[in-house]
This record gives sequence, structure tokens and C-alpha cells, in this order.
Amino acid sequence: MLKSVLRHSWFTAGAATIAVVASAAYYVALSEPVNCQNEEKSKSKSKNKLSGLVNEGNTCFINTTLQALASCPIFIWWIDSILTRKSSNTTDVYLGTTSSLNLTMAVINNQHQTISAHPFNTKQLIQSLEKHGWNLKSEEQDAHEFFNMLFTTIDEEINSKKSKIAKGISINELTSTTNVCQSTPSSPFRGYLASQLCCLTCGHKSVRYDAFECLSIPLPKLDVRNAFTMLNVEGLLKQFLAAETVGEVQCDNCSVENGKSVFVKQLSLGKLPQCLCLHIQRCDWTNGGQLTKRQDLVKFSEELNVGNFVYTNRLSGNFKPVPYRLRAVVEHLGMADSGHFVTFRRNVVDGRTKWFYTSDSYIRTATLEEVLKSSPYMLFYERCI
Ligand SMILES: [Zn+2]
Repeated sequence: MLKSVLRHSWFTAGAATIAVVASAAYYVALSEPVNCQNEEKSKSKSKNKLSGLVNEGNTCFINTTLQALASCPIFIWWIDSILTRKSSNTTDVYLGTTSSLNLTMAVINNQHQTISAHPFNTKQLIQSLEKHGWNLKSEEQDAHEFFNMLFTTIDEEINSKKSKIAKGISINELTSTTNVCQSTPSSPFRGYLASQLCCLTCGHKSVRYDAFECLSIPLPKLDVRNAFTMLNVEGLLKQFLAAETVGEVQCDNCSVENGKSVFVKQLSLGKLPQCLCLHIQRCDWTNGGQLTKRQDLVKFSEELNVGNFVYTNRLSGNFKPVPYRLRAVVEHLGMADSGHFVTFRRNVVDGRTKWFYTSDSYIRTATLEEVLKSSPYMLFYERCI
């Protein structure tokens, strides 16, 4: 089952009903789903084309996430390196989702050696996730939840591989083998939030680190007077990572009469991920218990500097810039109970960066201006080196 906090059903009745067919369409694929097993190497394959993804029945939330991930070269390199490290002691059973994801990334980026499918289907990936117990036919269909589901599953597969090796290894192998003990590098989306608590009575500080793959950022409370205020991603991060007062907390360092002190809690970016995924929390509940979607305009840039939010920068007071570059934007079109997910994504074609609009099997080129005018639900950045 989807382990969701928010219960909603952002779904599509089919991309064709939503996708805008532009006259300057770069590539339109409307053919029947193609099974990759039957595909033969295409001699006329052009490296300039991306592939769309078949809508398998309300699966735009999957397709949109996959296109966004496929736009992140560091992530693609990582997922490929996991499979390269695969020991001969393991089988693909434990890496079904990781393998399917790697294959899908290669095909939709038109980088696979032999498979060229336009559009490509996600049946194999969906089946691998169902083997892990996920129910993708649930009504809870959301790109952010799918992102979390995918990373939870990859994590399970990597750990499963380790446990299989550990169970099947002899003492001699344990003492002589080095490769089985090699740790798998964590996902490039893995970062750590530093949560610092400072007691206002005695000044004692403590820090806790919590892992994240995606930062889920709330929108400010809806205020009718400020309904048309323009928000931006830096402002939302500033609000999310601002200091707040927390009362009635037990301080282990000082002894006050009732045993509780007032603390200042400050969230910061403790360890930066190489790929930064931001989720804008657009789901909201009305006083009457109705689920609604916040349509707030949120501005964002091609470059995002998070230097002001880095824990060590804040400690030292030296706010050196930490720039990230935009790779993809996931946008949700429609209302809370219906709609469609699309992705604007970057790709390098013949050494030149281009932007593409993807909506299931439909793909066309896009301008950066169009990308920056979209209404972000999820943003994918990669750290500039
Ligand atoms: Zn204290």
C-alpha cells in the first residue's frame, strides 16, 4: 500500500485529453505500447530524441517522476554504479526495481545500446514494485509519493542484497573477501537536515541529523488579504528553515523548577545532497474537511543558491554560495481530485542543453521562459561543481 500522509487522487483520464498539441511539436508518439522485449536495434536511432512513456491507466504520476529523474545525470550514474557493483552472489530478484529503473532511464534518454521504444512502457517497473508489496492501483496517485516509494524500494533492494550476502558467506570468505564489505554509496538525493535545539535558560545546544531524499516544503497559511502575493522558492526555504520557539521541552543540562525549558529550534541543511528534490505542499484541507489544491504562484530560477541555509555556513557566519542548477520541474494541472502530471526537463543534445515538455507519450521542445512560468509541484536540481 502507498504509505501516504495525504490522501488524494491526482489522476489523469489520459494524456490526450490534457496535452496541448503544439504546432512546433518536436516529437509526438501516439503509437501502441511497445514491449521492449520485442524491440530490435534501430539502425535509424537518433540520439537527439527522448522517448515518452505509455500511460498504463492513470500512471502519469509515475511517468512524470521518471522523466524528472532521467534528467539528472548524477542519479543515472549512481543507479548504474549500483548494478555494476552487483556481486555474483546475488540475483536480480533483489534488484528488480533498481534494474527496471536503470533500463527505463536509458531508454527514455535514448541511451540504451539495443532498445529503442517510442513510447516505452513501465509495466516491468510497476510489476517489480508490486513484488515489493506496493499497490499502484490505489486511488492515491501522487508523484511525490511515488518518488518516496521508489527510493524506499531501492533502499530495500540494496539492503536485501547485503543481507543475502551476509547469510550465504563462509568464515573464510568473511576474512579474505573485501568486495562484499564495500558499502554502497547512498543515493545522490540523500541529504541530512540538521535540527539544532538551544535552551534559552542555560544556552545548551544539541543537534540531531535526519535523512531526507526530498524536502517537502509547506506553503504559508492562506491569507485572503495576501492571496495574490508572489511566493518564491528561496522564500519558502527561508520560512521552512527559519528559527522557531519551542516551549515545554526537557533540558538535560539545566534544572529549572518544573523541569521544562523554552528552546529555539533551527532547521538547516546539515549535509547537502548532490541532487536536490523539493516538493511544494499544495494539498490543503478546508475547515469543512474537503481536500483542496493550493494554486499559489511560486517563482523559481534556473539557479538556486542554498548557501544561506547550510548549517556550517550559519555557524561560521560565512555564507559562501552553494549553487544548484535546475534539471526538471514536475507540474500538476487541474484540481485536487483530478488532473494530470507533466514534466519540463533538461537534456543535452549534441552538446547543447535543451528543454523538453513531456506528458506521458507526448514530447516536444520547450523554452526556458516557458519552464520558468510553470507552476512547480516538484523541482529537481543538481549541485554545480
Ligand atoms: Zn537548559
